[in-house]
Parts: sequence; C-alpha cells; structure tokens
Amino acid sequence: MLNTLPSKLPDVGSTIFTEMSALALECRAINLGQGFPDYPPPDALIRAVSEAMAQGHNQYAPMAGLLQLREAIASKVQSQHGHAYSVESEITVTAGATEALMSSLLALTHPGDEVLLIDPAYDLYAPSIRLAGAEAVRVPMRPPRKDDPAFRIDWNRVEAAMTPRTRMLVLNFPHNPTGLTLKPEDLDALEALIDRHPVLLLSDEAYEHIVFDGCAHLSPVSRPLLAEHTVLVSSFGKTFHATGWKTGYCCAPAHVTREIRKVHQFTVFSVSTPMQAGIARYLRESDTLSDLSGFYQKKRDRLATGLKETRLRPLHSEGTFFLLVDTAALGTGLEKELAVRLTREVGVASIPVSAFYADPARPEANHQLLRLCFAKLDATLDQALERLRGLN
Ligand code: PMP
Ligand code: GLN
Repeated sequence: MLNTLPSKLPDVGSTIFTEMSALALECRAINLGQGFPDYPPPDALIRAVSEAMAQGHNQYAPMAGLLQLREAIASKVQSQHGHAYSVESEITVTAGATEALMSSLLALTHPGDEVLLIDPAYDLYAPSIRLAGAEAVRVPMRPPRKDDPAFRIDWNRVEAAMTPRTRMLVLNFPHNPTGLTLKPEDLDALEALIDRHPVLLLSDEAYEHIVFDGCAHLSPVSRPLLAEHTVLVSSFGKTFHATGWKTGYCCAPAHVTREIRKVHQFTVFSVSTPMQAGIARYLRESDTLSDLSGFYQKKRDRLATGLKETRLRPLHSEGTFFLLVDTAALGTGLEKELAVRLTREVGVASIPVSAFYADPARPEANHQLLRLCFAKLDATLDQALERLRGLN
C-alpha cells in the first residue's frame, strides 16, 4: 500500500536551505546559506514575550489574531504605505509568511488557474500552487550581464505571459535572492498591467524593513488601485531577528481575507498567543524598525568590501539580508556543485541561485551566482571573508 502511495509533490525533496545547512554542519562550515541571523532578538522583545507567558497569555488566541497585534499591524502599515486596513476584516496573524502564502494560494487559486512567478522565485511558491491544483507559469528576469550587472524585470514580458486563466501574480520585494526592490516606475507598470488584467497580486514582503541607501520600501498597497488587488504578506522573523518564532501576517480586502481565513482556521486555527502579545507590546513601546536598514547596510558593506579581496565579485544589493556573488573567476559548472565545493573545501556555505528556478540543472538557471546571507555578527562575516580569501 505504502509503496504505491501517489505523491502530490513527486519532484519535491528537502529544500536547498535544509540541504546546505546540513552540509554546513557536517563540514563545520560558516553558514552564509540559509537566511537566519546568528544574534538574538532584542532583549525588550524577549522580555515582552516572557512576561506575556507569565501573565497568563497561554491559551488560544482568536482565529484572526490578537486584537492588539492586528491594531499594531494596521497602524504600522498605515504609516508605511498610507493604506488603512480594517482590523476586524482585513488583517490576519499567521504562522510566519509561509503559512500566509500557503493559505492565500490554497484559498484563492483553483484547478485550471495559472499563477505567474517571476524567476528567480522563492522556493515555496511553486509547490504551494501545485497543491492548490493550479499551475505555475514562470517568467524569468533578465540575468546580470557585463554592462549591467543586475537582474532586471521586464514587465512587458510579465504581461505577455498573462492569459484568460491567469488568476494571480506573485511578487516578492525586497527580493530573495537578488535583493531587488520596487521603484516608482515598477508600480506604474504594475498599475497599467492590473488595469488591463485585473488579477490578484500576492505580495511577499518578508524583508519590508531591510532596504538600503536611503530608499523606502515601496509596496503595491501604497497605490489604491493595486491595494484592491493585493494580498500583502509579511513576517516578524526577519524584522526582529527571530526566524524561529514563525509569526507573520497578511492583509487583504475583506472579501479576499474572508477566503484566506477559511484555510487559515483549518490549518493552524490560531498562532502562538504569547508571541502575539509580546510582539504587539514591543511594536507599541519600541521604535527599532527604523534602525534596521542602517544596521543591515553596515553588514552588507562589510561583506561587499571584504569580498573585493577574494575571487568572488559582489553584486549590488538594494534590500534583504542577502547579496549575490559572481563566481565566474572560479570556472564554469553548476552553481550547486560550486556551493557544495565551497562548503567542503573552504568552509563557507552559500545558496546557489539556480535553486530559485524550476529546474536548477538547466543552463537558463545557472548564471555562476551564489547567494550569501549577511545577517551575521561582524566576527562571523570577517571569519568567512578570511576563508574566502584563500579560495583558488
Ligand atoms: N518569503 C520569503 C521571500 C522568505 O525569504 C521567507 C523566509 N526567509 C519566507 C517567505 C518565509 O517567512 P517565515 O519564516 O516568516 O515563514
Ligand atoms: N527564507 C530563508 C532563506 O531564503 C529560508 C527559510 C527556510 O529554510 N525555509 O534562506
């Protein structure tokens, strides 16, 4: 019986993040692969969560999330993007961005629907679309080239991929893994596109508070037309150096939220109460969100400057806690093989960008690029750089 059990996701194994973290552990490598900080959340936040437990916030939270956290999210989003979400009917606290994305895809897409992904795309979208019975249609960004060493999105190409079956376009800015952010011109292009093709936008903004060089994070919900079509998803994991807390949220118009909550209530029902109470209090009482970009910009610059003394060429990162390195000087080959080699031989783990494409072994997925995570103590970054200087 078990031998003949049909798989719903026959091509799916462990994620590249799990795989590279396991290899890093095995090789005692410095793990600049999977994206997580090697420093703790703020003391005041840990105290707020601990006190929430001690004060008895230990039973089920309401299905949609604790009211005080939804209120804090509403006021944060309003001040960031000028869009007012109803606490009652438009904001849901989720088990990380992951659950918000999965619940949204399961609730909002149907068998026969197409969902557009922009490649390179974070690994959870395509399997979630498949579980919903819909089909992922992937539109590649233009890869970096010598005269313009950055990924670029061609919105005309995105529009050309739309068909009458297209239900949704998935966006992820600041972008994992390229670090790209949205510019006003991108929002203009999206507005024109949504005007012609009124599809849903699933906007994964997990890195919303990490944008560099004085730029603000631009969300589609900052434009009223786009907000009507958007499910905004985010996470407190990156914002509070607490990826293990798995607490996030999604905001969407009431009729969309109603559907998302139908799935949310039967997958997790509600999210850890003391986490919610602690985060709500911390958001009310502290102002650390505005420092985060500066904090990460210093780390980005430390890593990028140090890399100049290695054979890896850093690409510019506009946001997130990742940067890409061009490995052309090390020869050709699959990015995955190089990532494994660097982990084993030099002791630094990374993530091959090819893992963010449908088939990581194809030439179109391999641009000799690796992703490095700089959410690490300066000492960790320096130690990794020392190892990378020995690369030949
Ligand atoms: N989206 C992106 C782009 C991510 O990088 C991640 C995880 N780092 C997630 C979603 C998942 O976030 P969470 O850990 O809150 O589920
Ligand atoms: N989002 C994290 C990254 O991109 C990984 C999260 C996970 O391991 N699922 O590295």
